[in-house]
Amino acid sequence: MSKATAAMKVAVIGSGISGAVCASTLARNGVSVTLFESARGPGGRMSQRSREISEDGKDLLFDHGAPFFTVSSNSDALTLVHDWESRGVVSEWTPTFGSFDCTSNKFLGPQQQCVQEGSEKKYVGVPGMNSICRTLCHDPGVESKFGTGIAKLEWMEEETSWSLEDSNGENLGSFCGVVASDKSIASPRFTDLTGRPPPLNLNLIPELANRLQDIPVRPCFALMLAFKEPLSLIPTSCISFKNSEILSWAHCDSSKPSRSTESERWILHSTPEYANRVVELTGRRKPSNETLNKVSERMFQEFQSSGLVSSQPFFMKAHRWGSAFPVISIAMEERCLWDRKRRLAICGDFCISPNVEGAILSGLAAASKLSEISSCL
Ligand SMILES: Cc1cc2nc3c(=O)[nH]c(=O)nc-3n(C[C@H](O)[C@H](O)[C@H](O)COP(=O)(O)OP(=O)(O)OC[C@H]3O[C@@H](n4cnc5c(N)ncnc54)[C@H](O)[C@@H]3O)c2cc1C
Repeated sequence: MSKATAAMKVAVIGSGISGAVCASTLARNGVSVTLFESARGPGGRMSQRSREISEDGKDLLFDHGAPFFTVSSNSDALTLVHDWESRGVVSEWTPTFGSFDCTSNKFLGPQQQCVQEGSEKKYVGVPGMNSICRTLCHDPGVESKFGTGIAKLEWMEEETSWSLEDSNGENLGSFCGVVASDKSIASPRFTDLTGRPPPLNLNLIPELANRLQDIPVRPCFALMLAFKEPLSLIPTSCISFKNSEILSWAHCDSSKPSRSTESERWILHSTPEYANRVVELTGRRKPSNETLNKVSERMFQEFQSSGLVSSQPFFMKAHRWGSAFPVISIAMEERCLWDRKRRLAICGDFCISPNVEGAILSGLAAASKLSEISSCL
């Protein structure tokens, strides 16, 4: 490791898979990394919800974001996934797929339906989807600070370094380079949600500003359900819903490897159209409990009307992902946005494709940009 690389201090903002991959790769290249995450734990949209407790006091865990991911066979991400497999934080999941047509009330079983889901291996984090990010955030050379939202990113021209501030106005130190792994860090949408300016002023990066100005997103509600008994009328572990205005997809979370099977846990995903309608009616800020309760009831009612649900859940709660899926990709070729002069990389799934693989590749690209210049310092 060169002296310059060792002296290079980089802040990574966000512990989703793009930020976590970037931080771990930089650290492996000898760069000193501090990762800041506004949430209590790692994972972003690959989180595992662990705050829920059943009536008898047992923890209920749900992968309420991405249920699984795939990686194409020629992808740079595959080497990483194999490494995570050997570290025991990723396993292959072999679910069965079916689809339910809400117009004809017919279930198409596993044999009839296989083309759409593809033949690629399905991977899950073990014991939860967030295990991958959690492990990467604690790799040697990465210092992770959770519950620390970055509210201001200031470029100090004289010192040629970045100064970071949290939402309490506390200075978090200065850094030679920054990786921002969430589009909200520079997006005007941040102001709509919080009433505050976004942490990064777009005027500072006029060459990149146009691309970050408006990245449309699709929202999604995830309904977490726990049943005492298995839903024996459902012959598969994943169901896609056809001709439903409310539901797009359901999967049996407790059927994944290394999950507790004390209860049977299902997660339903809403259609983007239904989620959009609710957001239009209730606003983009954090939904109230009343809204979430109404959404829970409506989604469960639709699930029940399929005739596939043989018992009542003892636990039911909805979560809203306001920006579940970016609709456009803003850096397909470069894989991340890069301002070399200020050593600023912006990465995430919105750069390449709205999935875990896209986020991994973007995080790797951001790490590569910063690692390249560390030798020139
Ligand atoms: C319901 C749902 C289903 C999905 N299904 C699939 C699927 O089947 N397969 C698949 O491959 N993908 C799926 N995805 C998409 C996948 O989860 C994402 O593409 C991927 O996780 C995005 O990772 P990311 O690092 O780009 O962003 P994120 O995971 O969103 O990470 C960004 C992180 O930055 C943090 N952050 C933001 N602002 C700040 C700040 N100012 N300070 C500090 N921290 C900040 C956020 O809290 C967050 O943790 C799904 C997503 C959802 C929501």
